[in-house]
Amino acid sequence: MDVALYTHVDMLDHRPGDNHAERPERLRAVIDALEDDGGLDLEPLDAPLVEFADLALVHPQDFIDSVLDAAPHSGTRALDPDTVLSAGSLTAARRAAGAVVAAARAVAAGQRTRAFCAVRPPGHHAEPATAMGFCLFSNIAVAARAAQAAGLKRVAIVDFDVHHGNGTQATFEHDPSVFFASIHQSPLYPGTGDPSESGVGNVANAIVPPNASRETWRRGFEGLMARVDGFAPELILVSAGFDAHVRDPLAAQSLEAEDFAWATRAIVSVANRRCGGRIVSSLEGGYDLEALGRSAAAHVKALQEG
Ligand code: ZN
Repeated sequence: MDVALYTHVDMLDHRPGDNHAERPERLRAVIDALEDDGGLDLEPLDAPLVEFADLALVHPQDFIDSVLDAAPHSGTRALDPDTVLSAGSLTAARRAAGAVVAAARAVAAGQRTRAFCAVRPPGHHAEPATAMGFCLFSNIAVAARAAQAAGLKRVAIVDFDVHHGNGTQATFEHDPSVFFASIHQSPLYPGTGDPSESGVGNVANAIVPPNASRETWRRGFEGLMARVDGFAPELILVSAGFDAHVRDPLAAQSLEAEDFAWATRAIVSVANRRCGGRIVSSLEGGYDLEALGRSAAAHVKALQEG
């Protein structure tokens, strides 16, 4: 299966600070790992700038305006202790959202079946009216709305980042046309995502404790995928964070790159059975550069082979 790779060098110019975990080198590590993997044959495409009208599918206009107004011309400006803007951040954030929207539209139009978006800043903590957790705009949520507008009405979002995708959940928890499935460590930032949070029956949260075994994580993920399968989506979007890797400094899970390949194969299996294999995956977290690169390459290879 061909996999389109949406990315752009402008996303290296989002610079939240020298000591910030969400640093430009992350994107470089992912791109280098994808290029160095001889088994990958990706079609690279420029991530476009998202249109403001597309952001408005999820975000209120006054929130969009407030982010635009907050962007500094030089230096940095903090929206909260984690979420910091530099001069290049707005362009980066527009390309991050624009990548996932473009990929979703290409898939909805039947031009492609599968895509990986190597983007930053990440998006899954951004709520409709709140930027937080390194995230400015909700890349995956905006893409889900764009896909629906283009005809793919039932969209499932699988989030295996080690942190709960509170922004994605907040966007869709009252909307039965979107299913949101997240596995995450608890307790951990942002503190949401208890299994009792089930939306209108369209939200599935699986939690793993700190230092959970790989087997425990896989059991939790299998339960989520059974729910996604039962939803019978027309498109699967993936919030692909790789910070459940054993080497990651921001969490305490035990996964190896192979576990992300295994999880990806499970997603591919549902996509092939339910929706013609349609998957758009977007990078979220992952803060150990070596683990991030290896894990992203394993994920994309499983997207390609499945
Ligand atoms: Zn994360």
